[in-house]
Amino acid sequence: MNNKSLFSSIFIVLFIIFCVPLALSQEVDDENEFSYDVNSPNGPNNWGGMCNQGHMQSPIDIADERVETTSKLGVLERDYTPSNATVMNRGYDIMLRWIGGGGSIRINGTEYQLNQIHWHTPTEHAINGQRFDLELHIVHQSADEKIAVVGILYEIGSPDSFLLMIEPYLRAVAPTKGVELSVGIIDPRQIEFGSIEYYRYNGSLTTPPCSENVTWTIVNKIRTASLEQVLLIREAIQDETGANARPLQALNDRLDDWGYPNVDIDGADLVACPRLVGDVRLTNKKDDWGWNMEGHSVYSVKESKQWLLGPVNRDESYRYKWCKWLPIKCNIFMWRANVDRIPTMTALRRRNIVVGDGWCALCGEAEETTDHIFTACSVASGVWGGISSWCKISPLFMFSIKDVLQSSNHLDGSKTRKEVIYGLLILTCWCLWKARNDKIFNNREANVVQIVSDVKVLGFLWYSSRFKEGKVDWKGWCHFRVDLM
Ligand SMILES: [Zn+2]
Ligand SMILES: [Zn+2]
Repeated sequence: MNNKSLFSSIFIVLFIIFCVPLALSQEVDDENEFSYDVNSPNGPNNWGGMCNQGHMQSPIDIADERVETTSKLGVLERDYTPSNATVMNRGYDIMLRWIGGGGSIRINGTEYQLNQIHWHTPTEHAINGQRFDLELHIVHQSADEKIAVVGILYEIGSPDSFLLMIEPYLRAVAPTKGVELSVGIIDPRQIEFGSIEYYRYNGSLTTPPCSENVTWTIVNKIRTASLEQVLLIREAIQDETGANARPLQALNDRLDDWGYPNVDIDGADLVACPRLVGDVRLTNKKDDWGWNMEGHSVYSVKESKQWLLGPVNRDESYRYKWCKWLPIKCNIFMWRANVDRIPTMTALRRRNIVVGDGWCALCGEAEETTDHIFTACSVASGVWGGISSWCKISPLFMFSIKDVLQSSNHLDGSKTRKEVIYGLLILTCWCLWKARNDKIFNNREANVVQIVSDVKVLGFLWYSSRFKEGKVDWKGWCHFRVDLM
């Protein structure tokens, strides 16, 4: 080897060593120039590209009343294949990329290659005004560089099996921005869609430069992912807001289609149908709806108001005030707890179902009743101590679930503060119940600190994404600065 070729090979080696990481970090730096904080100078209102100029921007609120139902969309034809992939924390999200593509999807005759997937939390798209906890974006690109994204929405519940499979990789890249980690073969067929129905609309990328002409497909099913999985993705996001969901965009007369392919009805549906109408008895009388109130046969708003305020509904103990910033499942849970309809050991015994010794799974010191788990239990008292000191309120003395629900009435401060604390009381009961179930079904020891932390994190997640007055960042939330909003 003469000097000249030695020089050029060194040059090539150096070029490869120095330029590749440079290009990578540059890309990440550029992308990090945007923030999700609406008050920040590089926040969503000031994003560049098409973001504040386009008229077909994403995400949008998919409201049932505007959606047009059609069967012309056809089945989503997926032809995914297991392929080599990498995982990277881009600072604003975690992305899993198939290096040579992971197969394809076909939409209206066009083939789109599967390129990458990434997650947003909370969801970017809303259904009837409601955002959920996590959204997966499956990004595809056609030969002529058109983009098609499939979105799947999740709320907190049982773990998602695909996330479960790749969790170790996500954990590995979560703390470091911009490092692309090879993870071997990942099978995209393991991503469960969960429904053949979907919404279709024409939109844009949801991060700068927000390029338009993106074909969106939102699967019409809210799937579940565990709290731990959502937190894992959330912790990796390095945005100050702790979230990476772009605000909802104007519709500007775009019409959505709500599609379902023409397929045979599932066998299970056929079995379920007769069951639904099983209690219906047919007679030869004309169908009629009546206002079932003594002495009055005409329905009016006044009558119904009288009925609602009447003696039957006057029992305060059965009244439950809905918390508007918590998901429906928490509200339903609390409503049921309030009327003693959750399956505690004592409740099961009342129904002649014998389970264990009937003692509280959290403390093992007393019979498990609804009032015990949420107030008298030593684990619950520890949790309430933590919650009251975080919320800067005097220690809570409660003896029943009714006391819990009424505690926020006696607080001073703004209406917002009262509403936040009311929701946190419900959320605390929900987390106590979750810890109790974890102990019984998964033999996981209950831990006061962990339960308090779950309440804080879930509270932030739901409060900041579901409550329009809920403008608070994670730091402010930890100091409970809710009065300033
Ligand atoms: Zn996305
Ligand atoms: Zn107990």
